[in-house]
Amino acid sequence: MNKIVLKLGGTIMALFLVVLLPLGFVANQIFTNFYYNQVQQEISQLSAKYARNMTSLDDRTFIKMFVNLADLTNKEIIIINQQGEMVANSGVGLPHLSEKEVEQLSNGQSISKRVEDPVTNKNYLASGNPIYQGNKISGVFFVMADIHDIEEPVRKIRDLLILSAVGALFLALGFTFVLAKKMSDPLLEMEQATRKIAKGKLDVRVSIRSNDEIGTLAKAINDLAMETNRYRSNRREFFANISHELRTPISYLQGYAKVLKQGLYQSEKEKNLYLEIIDQESDRLVHLINDLFDLAKMEEGKIDLSLSFIDIGGILESAIVKLKVETVKKGIELEVISNNVLPRIKGDPIRMEQIFTNLLSNAVRYTEQGKITARAFLNKQHVHVHIEDTGMGIPEEEIPYIFERFHRVEKSRSRQLGGTGLGLAIVKNLVELHNGTIAVESRVGQGTTFLLSFPVERGAE
Ligand code: ADP
Repeated sequence: MNKIVLKLGGTIMALFLVVLLPLGFVANQIFTNFYYNQVQQEISQLSAKYARNMTSLDDRTFIKMFVNLADLTNKEIIIINQQGEMVANSGVGLPHLSEKEVEQLSNGQSISKRVEDPVTNKNYLASGNPIYQGNKISGVFFVMADIHDIEEPVRKIRDLLILSAVGALFLALGFTFVLAKKMSDPLLEMEQATRKIAKGKLDVRVSIRSNDEIGTLAKAINDLAMETNRYRSNRREFFANISHELRTPISYLQGYAKVLKQGLYQSEKEKNLYLEIIDQESDRLVHLINDLFDLAKMEEGKIDLSLSFIDIGGILESAIVKLKVETVKKGIELEVISNNVLPRIKGDPIRMEQIFTNLLSNAVRYTEQGKITARAFLNKQHVHVHIEDTGMGIPEEEIPYIFERFHRVEKSRSRQLGGTGLGLAIVKNLVELHNGTIAVESRVGQGTTFLLSFPVERGAE
């Protein structure tokens, strides 16, 4: 059995009882009292009026008229004389009066009481008033109302109240059941879905039926499944890429090492060429492994920057110095345009140099002729660095992907040129670790510009 149904049902039942029982009791009490008072008042007034109009106890027709009147008003009457003898009645026995009541009546006061007919044992509400003849009391006029007649309508109303309360209770229970089911069904579905997700079925989705808390929970579960799925396929792809990237240089190493071992070369020149390839490929392997380590650390957020206030212009200069040999070899011009009054920014100098080296060596790698310009300047509390080349450029449709791990515009070309496909992914991570942004503008055949910007912290000089 569904637990929410039980809990909600129980709570509603308890609430119902707590509210309705005392309410019903009080309502019943008020109603009964009101009805009794009403009848009490009526018979008091009637008996007072009848007693006042009674002038002689001897006039039989007059008395008969009162008996008939009692019948018409559905009341009983008793008239007694001064000696306490019954003069007339409408069919009920003489009630017993206490001495105190007799005294009250002889003093001219009226009395009201509950009496029992000694013959029929029926209960009555009685009101008695003294009858005056001149100044003398000559008897008592009693008007009585059958208690049963009073209780009957009260009982009927009470039955009706109980019936409607029971009806309301069942209605509430039915409503609770529907409501609880409506609430617990999606929860059960979510429970099943999360269990499936935990077991690795990441294509499971929960249906979103409302936009309340339950709906947002369902959405959150779907997002979680989607994100985990994305993470999983990303990781799979990453591992596939890594093994591919590692296998290529290793197969070169194995192949050429075997050739050399078995002496399968024609000349000393050929041998040196093979040794050169082995040397290059092992360099690439070291490079790739270092990049992978860096990236893994960054993506797990485990990289610690040793922050200080750094001079971007200076770091850019030292990165450029390291590439001079390469550019001279290729015949490319390399220029730094740096504003001397750049404020220092908070950053890790080694990582910042890694950013520039990666971007500049890409620029050198993908530029055949022309010029590479690195510009650093201050604008709106940000230090901007633009690295521009006149190389082969990046096709527009590739631009959104170039920061992804192992994404290359042309696989073979990048590899030939010594790239690992991880450079820009590392750059982007490092820039973001420095609270900076990176963007790229490029035209095929004309060149590429990487645009970086880093915030200048308050107090930095
Ligand atoms: P790689 O090691 O292959 O250079 P990167 O992550 O550094 O990997 O760059 C991803 C891809 O972006 C490269 O393969 C190349 O196709 C393209 N790319 C990067 N920088 C440039 C550039 N300055 N000019 C043209 N293409 C570039």
